[in-house]
Amino acid sequence: MPNTDVIVVGGGVIGCSIAWHLARRGVGVTVIEERGIAAAASGASAGGVRQQGRDPREMPLAIAAIARWATLADELAADLHYYREGHVTVYEDEAEQALAQSSVEAQRALGLDISLVAGQELHELVPGLGEQVLFGAYTGNDGHADPARTTRAFAAAAQRDGATLMLGAAVTGLLVDGDRVTGVVTEERSMLADHVILAAGAWTRVLVSALGVDLPLEPVGLQMIRTRPMPALLRQVVGANARRLSLKQLRDGSYLIGGGWPGDPDMRAGIGYLRPESIAGSRKDSAAIFPVLHETEIDRAWVGVEAIAADEVPVIGPLPGIGRLTVAAGFSGHGFALSPIVGQLVAELVVDGRPSISLDALSSARFDAASRPEAVTPSAG
Ligand SMILES: Cc1cc2nc3c(=O)[nH]c(=O)nc-3n(C[C@H](O)[C@H](O)[C@H](O)COP(=O)(O)OP(=O)(O)OC[C@H]3O[C@@H](n4cnc5c(N)ncnc54)[C@H](O)[C@@H]3O)c2cc1C
Repeated sequence: MPNTDVIVVGGGVIGCSIAWHLARRGVGVTVIEERGIAAAASGASAGGVRQQGRDPREMPLAIAAIARWATLADELAADLHYYREGHVTVYEDEAEQALAQSSVEAQRALGLDISLVAGQELHELVPGLGEQVLFGAYTGNDGHADPARTTRAFAAAAQRDGATLMLGAAVTGLLVDGDRVTGVVTEERSMLADHVILAAGAWTRVLVSALGVDLPLEPVGLQMIRTRPMPALLRQVVGANARRLSLKQLRDGSYLIGGGWPGDPDMRAGIGYLRPESIAGSRKDSAAIFPVLHETEIDRAWVGVEAIAADEVPVIGPLPGIGRLTVAAGFSGHGFALSPIVGQLVAELVVDGRPSISLDALSSARFDAASRPEAVTPSAG
C-alpha cells in the first residue's frame, strides 16, 4: 500500500488549490481525479470573481479571496485571464430601490466596498445597458478570470512543488480505523494517508455517505452560453436582481452568459444536457439587459454539474466525530472566486490545526436535523 501525507480527492479548482497550498508548505500530496483536471464544474464555470451578493457566512472568505487574486497569476506563473473591472447587479424597477439600498448597506456593514449607482452615471460606467435599467449595486474590485486555466495553473504549480496527480483513477471508498479515516480505496489499490480531503464537488455526498453522514448537497446542472466574438464593449460583470443573469465579455470579444439557468446533470460524464427552454430564457433575459446581444449568435452552449448545498453555502472543515478527514464541497454556483482562499485555509487547518479565518459558520454541523434550512433556488456566478 503506497503512502502519502495527504490525499486530495478531486482535481477541480478547489482540490487543485488545496493541493498547491499544501505542497508549497512541504506536505506530500496526491490528487486523485477520475475524469481530468477541470473536467466538471471548474471547467464549465462562468469564472466570476465577486464578493458582491455573498451570504454573510462566506463574505469574510470572499473579501480575503479578492486580496489573493491580486497576486495569484504571479504566484502561479500563469496568465489566468483575470480582469478586475467591477461587478454590477442591475435593477429595472423603481420600487426595488429601497430593497437595493438596504442590501448595499448590509454588505457595507460586512466590510464590502459597494455603492448604488443610478441613471446617467450608471449608463456611462457600463455603456450598452438597456435603457430601462435604472440603477445598480457596484463593486469596483470584483471581476472575472478563466476557470479552466486557473484550475490547470493550480495543478501545475502543485506538481512543481512536489504534488502527484493521479488522473483517471476513481476513489471508490474510504479506509476507516475506529473514528478516523486512514486512506482511500481506488478501483486498483488502497492508499494510506495521514489526512484525506474530499473536494469531489457534486460527488462528495456519495463518498461521505459510506461514513453514515448525509450531507445535503444536490447535484444540479447549470447552463452557460458563449457567443461569437463581437467588438469590445463590456468591461464589468453584469448580474440582474430580477433575472437569471451573469454576463461578461471575454478577451476574444465573445460574451459569456450564465446566471443559473438549469440543465440536466449527467453524473457519469461530469457535464450535463441542455434544455431548449433554458437557452431561450437566457438569450431573452441577457438581451433585455444588454441589447447588443440581439445581434449575436451562439458559438457554444454547455451544462456544468455543480453541488448545491441546501442553504447555498459551502461545507468546509472536518465532519463531526470523524478524524483526519476534511470536506470542501457544496460551493453552490460560486466557488471559483473563493478557490485561492479555500486552498489556503484548508492547508492551514491541516498543517497548523486552525485556519487564519474561522470556518466555523461553514461547518457541516449547521445541518443538524433541528436547524436544517429549506432548500433554495440555485444561482451561479
Ligand atoms: C455553469 C457554472 C457557472 C458557474 N459560475 C461561477 C462563477 O461565475 N463564479 C464562481 O465563483 N463560481 C461559479 N461556479 C461555481 C464554481 O465553478 C464551482 O463552485 C467550483 O468549480 C467547484 O469546484 P470543485 O473543485 O469543488 O468541483 P469540481 O470542479 O466539480 O471538481 C470535483 C472533481 O472531483 C472529481 N471526482 C468526483 N468524484 C471522484 C472520485 N470518487 N474519485 C476521483 N475523482 C472524483 C470530479 O471528476 C471532478 O473533477 C459555476 C459553476 C457552474 C457549473
